[in-house]
Formats: sequence, structure tokens, C-alpha cells
Amino acid sequence: MKKLNVVVWSEYVHEKKNDQVREVYPDGMHAAIAQGLVESGEDFIVSTATMQEQEHGLDEARLQEIDVLIWWGHIAHGEVDDAVVERVQKRVLEGMGLIVLHSGHYSKIFRRLMGTSCTLSWRVADEKERLWVCNPGHPIAQGIDRYFELEKEEMYGEPFSVPEPEEQVFISWFEGGEVFRSGNCYHRGNGKIFYFRPGHETYPTYYDKNVKRVIANAVRWAAPQGSWADPHYCENRKEPIEPIG
Ligand code: ZN
Repeated sequence: MKKLNVVVWSEYVHEKKNDQVREVYPDGMHAAIAQGLVESGEDFIVSTATMQEQEHGLDEARLQEIDVLIWWGHIAHGEVDDAVVERVQKRVLEGMGLIVLHSGHYSKIFRRLMGTSCTLSWRVADEKERLWVCNPGHPIAQGIDRYFELEKEEMYGEPFSVPEPEEQVFISWFEGGEVFRSGNCYHRGNGKIFYFRPGHETYPTYYDKNVKRVIANAVRWAAPQGSWADPHYCENRKEPIEPIG
């Protein structure tokens, strides 16, 4: 089987500005997420890209080669070049998988692909998150127990203004009482999209073994599976298959 080409993209801003974040992710969040994928033992070719690189590290030639793109962004959503967003959307429609993490819910690319505001409620209070598997047969939940917990995370609460997920893999409960749809599957064109909630920048979430397992499973799930239609072309089929009239 062909190795999947996976790129972990991050805005890479908090780590440079905030000592607390740099302590948790000294080489950047993208490096930790990529390391988790390498350790998963899956047949992935893993690399990273950041917003500071030319064309955000996502030029046309590189994007063409990516099977699954992972996206982490937060305070710099507005600085992401619209031309790159357009290009990523095009690739998703063509069949590239996209995994959007945590505050990526408010990224240009996710909001464009969802077509809704993608708003939610939030609170940073060092509270426990319990992620319940609500779809145990789903490929993304394989290797995960009935639930797993993160001792400290940011809370995200409903209502989460996204289209109804096509498949719901996880629902989170938070110590403060809220719940949230935290593992959501979508298709857009030929591409698969998975939104996965955990991953606030001040917590060591991306070192958690269950989180690493879920992201690796999601890459496998989101891999392109053949193209069933040209997403950029409407065919004028002048010659009918059967004679008409
Ligand atoms: Zn956050």
C-alpha cells in the first residue's frame, strides 16, 4: 500500500509569544503532532508546514502531493492568505483529507467548507474533559476505550454552529457541566473532513496517547479513496446514451 503523505500545518504564533506555551511545545505544536504520527507506527510520510513559510508552506506543487492535511490555528486566522485557503478547499474537493484541530473551528478554511459560522462557547479554567466514544465501530475510534479523559483542557460548549455531522465519533463532557460534539465527520466533494476538538495551546494534549491514536486513525480514515467526479467541471453531455424522441 502506498504510504500516505501527511502534512501538519500550524500558524506557529503562540509558541513564540508565550512562555507557557513554549514550555509545553518547545519545537511548536506542529512538531508535537507530527511526532505523535511518527510514533503511531502507521505507514505515513510526515512533514510540517507553518504560516511563516512562503505561501504558508502550501504551494500548489506541495499541495498536489498531500494526501491528508492537519490544521491547527487560533490567533492568526485572519492572516492566512485567501489564495491559500482557496487552494486548500480545491484540493479537499478533489479528494485530499483534512483534519481540523481545536481552535481551527474558526479558521477560514473550516468555515468555508462548513458554510456556517462555526461559533461555540468556551472557557479556560483547567477543567477535566471526558471524551465519550459514541460510535465504537467507527475507524477513528479504534483502539480507544469507552471514553478517555484529559485532566486539564479548555472547555468548548454547545451550541456548535456547524452542519449536522454525517458521523459523530466523540462527544465531550466537561467538569463545569457543558457538552460538545468533539469528533465530527464530513464529506465535501471527494474529500473527507474530520474535526477533532482537544488541543488548547497551554495544555500537553498532543502528547496524550489517546489523542495521538485518534489523530492517526483520522489520517487513515481521511485518506483519498479514488476520485469519482471532476469537482471543477460540468459536462455538457450533448450525445445521449439512448436516442431521444
Ligand atoms: Zn484553545
